[in-house]
Amino acid sequence: MKDNFGREITYLRVSVTQRCNLNCVYCGKTDCAKKETELSPATIRQLVRAFVACGIKKVRITGGEPLVRNDLCEIIAGIRSIGGVETCALTTNGVYLAQAAGALKAAGLDSVNISLDSTDGSTYRHLTGADMLKKVLAGLDEAERVGLRPIKVNAVLMKGVNSDGAGALIDLARRLRIDVRFIELMPFSAQGEDAALRVTGDEILTQFPFLRPLDPADGVAQYYAGEGFAGRVGLIRPITRKFCAGCNRIRLLSDGSVKPCLGYDTAYPLLPFLGDDERLREEIRQIILKKPAGHSFENQTAGHGLNRTGG
Ligand code: SAM
Repeated sequence: MKDNFGREITYLRVSVTQRCNLNCVYCGKTDCAKKETELSPATIRQLVRAFVACGIKKVRITGGEPLVRNDLCEIIAGIRSIGGVETCALTTNGVYLAQAAGALKAAGLDSVNISLDSTDGSTYRHLTGADMLKKVLAGLDEAERVGLRPIKVNAVLMKGVNSDGAGALIDLARRLRIDVRFIELMPFSAQGEDAALRVTGDEILTQFPFLRPLDPADGVAQYYAGEGFAGRVGLIRPITRKFCAGCNRIRLLSDGSVKPCLGYDTAYPLLPFLGDDERLREEIRQIILKKPAGHSFENQTAGHGLNRTGG
């Protein structure tokens, strides 16, 4: 369905947990809700089915870290069994992906985005608080092996922290048939120093002038090719090239509330309407109509960690 700005809302991001096994410096991980408060696979399926009745076609599972849930395959299979769901994707830090990839694929997962901010072990440990780089790279290999496609690597660069590793990340796209995308730092961590740390898309293009634009933009990312590259490089620029005018997404949080926009802490509870599917759908339609024109990250912090929303 369309929101009040004529945008077709077709993409649902489902955060299945606030828990996470990493502590990324820029995530500003806050108040991880207890496992007990997380929605069951059956409730997630019921809610997703109501969203699909309101026009959702694509579902992405996120978190916290979704692979900390040992019933994730059941959640995926439940979502996949809903008529009208065209794709079911996962965003993960990849730490547990090597052991889960085959089962996720068998459960009906289509594709995976892996968050990887550095291919240097000590930088990775500094950024995430864990010495897990080898596991993540093994997860990437396994995702490729079992056929989870497309595989996208998402990286957030910060000046003086991991920006010197951009070339090594781009090299993954040269060697592998994957997309490596750089997401501009958004103001979620409490420090509020994101503007000074942020590496913009334009700065990346200046540093790597061999990247040639591929048209048209694909979703929120603008893609680039390099000579002889097997994969692509993408830039996601929520700060310097806001893409709110084309936003097609809405977010279901792990407590069953709905966040129309990443930029605001407002979330609307859905659990009170679980007993009445028509009322539930009407509630979702009203929330979609409340979607704001866009975030204002360029001049405010979001005031909460991204582990609540899932990115
Ligand atoms: N745990 C999963 C993961 O690591 O991909 C899913 C949740 S995580 C919050 C989703 C994405 O949000 C990750 O790619 C992460 O890099 C990104 N992210 C977190 N904080 C961010 C920030 N301040 N600015 C930009 N991206 C951020």
